[in-house]
Amino acid sequence: MIYGALEAGGTKMVCAIGDESGKIIEQISIPTKTPEETMPRIVEYFKDKNIKSLGIATFGPVDVHPDSSTYGHILDTPKTPWIGFDMLGYMKEALGVPAGIDTDVNGSLLGEVTWGTSKGISDVVYITIGTGVGGGILSGGKIVHGMLHPELGHMKVVKHEADNYEGRCPYHGTCLEGLASGPAIEARYGATASKLADRDDVWEIESYYIAQAISNLICIVSPKKIILGGGVMHQKQLFPLIRKKVLENLNGYFKLDELSDIDNYIVPASLNDDQGIMGAIKIAMDAV
Ligand code: ADP
Ligand code: ZN
Repeated sequence: MIYGALEAGGTKMVCAIGDESGKIIEQISIPTKTPEETMPRIVEYFKDKNIKSLGIATFGPVDVHPDSSTYGHILDTPKTPWIGFDMLGYMKEALGVPAGIDTDVNGSLLGEVTWGTSKGISDVVYITIGTGVGGGILSGGKIVHGMLHPELGHMKVVKHEADNYEGRCPYHGTCLEGLASGPAIEARYGATASKLADRDDVWEIESYYIAQAISNLICIVSPKKIILGGGVMHQKQLFPLIRKKVLENLNGYFKLDELSDIDNYIVPASLNDDQGIMGAIKIAMDAV
């Protein structure tokens, strides 16, 4: 059986077909412009692929509640041409197959718990540190949606004493995303994050914020695994710094095997940056 997968991002739309083993058979990428320009090209790609169903993992905010009248619509987003766009309805109508939709981070989370090293674990938090900071939560085997869907990136964090940067979130300034996203690093130091690999001060501050968020999430969600993905997490030196700071923050409160084995508790994404598109395949499978 062939499934269609669409990973809808702010800069590009990844379209792929894959099978129930999560294997990507082929994929293409289309630049994200307006819905009028971009969506017909996506339909064109999937039209003759004979897909059983389509899964969409999209930038948000998006209505992810199947019983809502605006299920699958993009909500109030800074990408203004997309506000109110019925992403799911458009694709269902154009292709005439069942389809499902979730956020891009929930897609990555689904990819990892279906085919990655966190396969089969019931309680997992996935955080992506990239152009933005986002996160998905699997609790008791179910993706948490709640009233909208989690927006982990906008949690408040305490500023590092050596950090003079004012933050870049238009809503909160110094929320996690405002201080720790790739563009925040770039704005703080005037250089892209990938060029700052050997600057210890950069990763000291970055790990400080990520570790705070993780410590908060451990207290709230009690996950059995925490996965970190996104462009910034390609800086592998962050992992030991984050693990150390998380243990310091928790200060021995949780006496649990998972935390004693922190290297296997806070882990990198394991699907070579295909976790999002693979998650979209899983969304497609679940839509049948
Ligand atoms: P997006 O979030 O747009 O889907 P990414 O997850 O690749 O895409 O995140 C892009 C951000 O990650 C950019 O701010 C970029 O500077 C940063 N980034 C990408 N690669 C690296 C790297 N190797 N090291 C540090 N930062 C990186
Ligand atoms: Zn914010």
